[in-house]
Amino acid sequence: MPKYIGIDLGTANTLLYMKGRGIVLREPSVVAVERQTERVRAVGRDAKLMLGKTPGSITAHRPIKDGVIADFEITAAMLRDFFKRISAGNLFSRPYVSVCVPYGVTEVERRAFKDATREAGARAVAMVSEPIAAAIGAGLRVSGPRGSMVVDIGGGTTEVAVLSLGGIVRSTSLRIAGDELDESIVQYIKEKYGISISESMAEMLKKQIGSVHWSTDEGTMNIQGLTQRTSARSGLPAVLTISAGELREAMYDQIEQILKCICSTLESTPPELSADIYDYGIMLTGGSALLRGLPNLIAERTGIRVTLAKNPLDCVALGLGRMIESDNKVDNNLEYES
Ligand code: ADP
Ligand code: MG
Repeated sequence: MPKYIGIDLGTANTLLYMKGRGIVLREPSVVAVERQTERVRAVGRDAKLMLGKTPGSITAHRPIKDGVIADFEITAAMLRDFFKRISAGNLFSRPYVSVCVPYGVTEVERRAFKDATREAGARAVAMVSEPIAAAIGAGLRVSGPRGSMVVDIGGGTTEVAVLSLGGIVRSTSLRIAGDELDESIVQYIKEKYGISISESMAEMLKKQIGSVHWSTDEGTMNIQGLTQRTSARSGLPAVLTISAGELREAMYDQIEQILKCICSTLESTPPELSADIYDYGIMLTGGSALLRGLPNLIAERTGIRVTLAKNPLDCVALGLGRMIESDNKVDNNLEYES
C-alpha cells in the first residue's frame, strides 16, 4: 500500500497530513545543528526552545524564510526527520507527497520545494498552489465560477488571493506577518522602556494579550527583560507590565501594511469577481489570523464581511488532505512527478 502525504512547509510551522489518518504532525520549522560536525541535534519543538539561547557549539536554524526554502540541506534534513517520525520514509514504502508552494514564486524556488521533498525520501512529488489549499481547507468551494478571497497571514508572509474556477485570478504577497509583529514588539519595548526582551517573549505577549482593534484591547501582562547595555544599570533583570493598547501601538505600522495589501488586491480585482467578494466576504486563514480584533479591523477598513477560518493554523494541511483523500476528484488534480 503506497502512502500519500501532504506537506504544509511554512516559515513558522510544518504540518503533515497522511491519507486515511488526517493531520499527523505539527511542528515548528526549526532545526538545531551542531556547528563543528553539522550533525542535526534537534528538530521542531525541541529545536525551537533552543532559538536565541543555544550554546556556542549549537545553532538553531529556521530554514524557511519569507515562505520559501532558504537553506536546502537543512530543510531536507528536517523533512527526513518528520517522515521518520510518522514512519513514512522507509525504503519499501517511499511516500507520494504533495507539497504546497506559495503562489508567484520563481521557478528556482519552486524546484527547491520539489527537490528537498525528494531528498527527504519522497517517491514522487506533486506541487499544489498554497492559496488554493488554504481556501479548500477553510471550507470554500473553489471550483465554481463564484469569486472568493482568501487572506493567509502566517509567520513570514501575508498572501492575499482571489480565486475563481479553481484557479488564482489575483494574488499579492507581502513579506510581513507574525514574525515582523514580534520584532516590532521587541523594538517598541526597547525604545519605550530601554528593556530588551526576546522574540519568543514578544510572541508570547502577542498571543496572550495582543490586539489590533480597540474593541479587543483587554488586560495586561507582566514580562521579564534585561536593562539595555547603554543604560547605567545595564544587563540587569527587570519586570515590566505591558498593556494590550501598547501592543496595538507597537504593531500599528505592520498591520497597516497588511491592510493596504488587502485593499490594493481588492481594487485590482475584476468587477464581476469583486461583486462576489462583497456578497460572500473574505476568508481569513494562517496563525496570525488569530490576532484579536483582526477580522473586525479588516471588515471595518474594506466594508466587507470577514470570516475567521475554523482552524486557521491547519487550513493548508486540511486542504491538501481533502485533495489527497478524494483521489484527485476535488478541484485540483495532483500530478505526481518522480
Ligand atoms: P506559517 O504558515 O508561515 O508557518 P502559521 O500559519 O503556522 O505560519 O502561523 C504562525 C504565526 O501565527 C506565528 O507568527 C505565530 O506567532 C502566529 N500565531 C499563532 N497563534 C496566534 C495567536 N493566538 N495570536 C496571534 N498570533 C498567533
Ligand atoms: Mg502557512
